[in-house]
Order: sequence, then structure tokens, then C-alpha cells
Amino acid sequence: MDIRDITVDAVVLKARDYKEQDKLLTYFALETGKGVAIARGAAKPGGKLRSIAQPFCRVSLTLSPPKSGVAFVSQGLQQNSFIGVGADLSALAYASYISELTDLAVPEHRPSPDFFALLLTVFSLLQMDDDHARTARYFELRLLQELGLLPDLTGCSCCGRSLMGGSFHLSPRAGGLLCAACGAGEAAPLICAGAVQTMRRLLEAPLMRLPAVRISRTMMEEIDQALAYYLDYHLEYSAKARRILQQLLD
Ligand SMILES: [Zn+2]
Repeated sequence: MDIRDITVDAVVLKARDYKEQDKLLTYFALETGKGVAIARGAAKPGGKLRSIAQPFCRVSLTLSPPKSGVAFVSQGLQQNSFIGVGADLSALAYASYISELTDLAVPEHRPSPDFFALLLTVFSLLQMDDDHARTARYFELRLLQELGLLPDLTGCSCCGRSLMGGSFHLSPRAGGLLCAACGAGEAAPLICAGAVQTMRRLLEAPLMRLPAVRISRTMMEEIDQALAYYLDYHLEYSAKARRILQQLLD
């Protein structure tokens, strides 16, 4: 141990092979936000860091100060594995998507207790609740909120039309909703007022009640397309994360 070592409570997002026997971890820590660290020997059988060098688990990591830019894990302890070996393939695919999107969108070394709690929540939901698409949409909405990009979902941002009926564009250019009339020529897909209300319910529901938010297949498709368009506009690489998800699900 070095006196400058720090111990953090973290969620492992990715664990990639690195050199011959090491793993390069991408994690999100409660205390320090997103970061990367090398777990030496974690790829070899019997390596003492093997159990923490796995994606989608909560770990306690002791990190040594960076040498040439990257920190090393000097000690690690697995607290909880959400989606381990033998997990449902769909749960694994969605967990990879959430990790990928986090890696692409969230800046390094910016701690956020809310986002840390969100990661724990969505990985638990993927383990316990079969509607993985709903968990992904919930994550996308909360990610937009975390990044300060969440659009106003109360009505048309131009004429004020309410969500009593009709269709709306979730317009990244307008930073919110546009009714069909105000949004003529808008490229963002049209979604029904009910789909917008469902997004609001997802955002407002207490966590325990999330599985009770019922979403029909048609509405899920509308929400999926609207959020995909919105995310792609703001986050350069979100389409790549979605392609990976699609490949894993096919
Ligand atoms: Zn309008």
C-alpha cells in the first residue's frame, strides 16, 4: 500500500483484456466518477484481482496513483455481481448497452452520487425485472437528466399545446416538444401524447414502482425512436452503442 492510495466504491462498466494477463477496467466510482485502471494479473487463472475484473459488478477498489496516466488497482473486493456468468442474454446485452452509453457520454473524474445510484438501480432492474427495454428507456431519460439535456415534457414548447391528445416531435433543436402543427418540417419522429406521458411517468415513478409502469409494444417503439433521435443529436456515438445492442439481441 502507498499512502496516496485511495479506496473507492465503484461499479465496473467494462473489463477489457490488456497486455497478456492484465485487464483494463472502466468504472464509475461514487467518490471520483468515471475512470480507468489496470488490474494486473486479472486475466490469468488464480489472479487475485480476477473476481473484481468483471463488468456489471459493484466492487471496492484500492487505486494506486497514476503512472504514465493510468492508475493501478492494488486491492479489490467484489461486493455484488448484478449480471454474472450464466445471466440471461438479453440482460447482458442491455447491461452492455448501458455501460457503453455511460462510457461514451459521461465525462471522466466527475463524481455524481445520483448517477452512481442510477447505475446500481438499472443493473438491479436488469437482474430482477424482465422488461429490459423499459429499463433502457428509463436509463436514457435519466442520463439526459444527468447531462442537463432532458427536454421539457409538459407540452408544445412553441404554442403551449397540452398533452391531452395529438402527436408531438421530441425536437432536439427546440430542446423540447413541438406539436404536429408547430413542428411542420421537423425531422424528429412523431410520437403520441400518451408516449410522452409514459416518459414522464418513468421519470417520476418511485424506483419500486418502475416495473408497474406498463408500456405497450407500439408505445415502446415510439419512445425508443424518439429517444434514439434525441440522443444521437446530442451524443455523437450513441448510435454505435445501439448498433452493438442490436447485434447482441439478434
Ligand atoms: Zn405547438
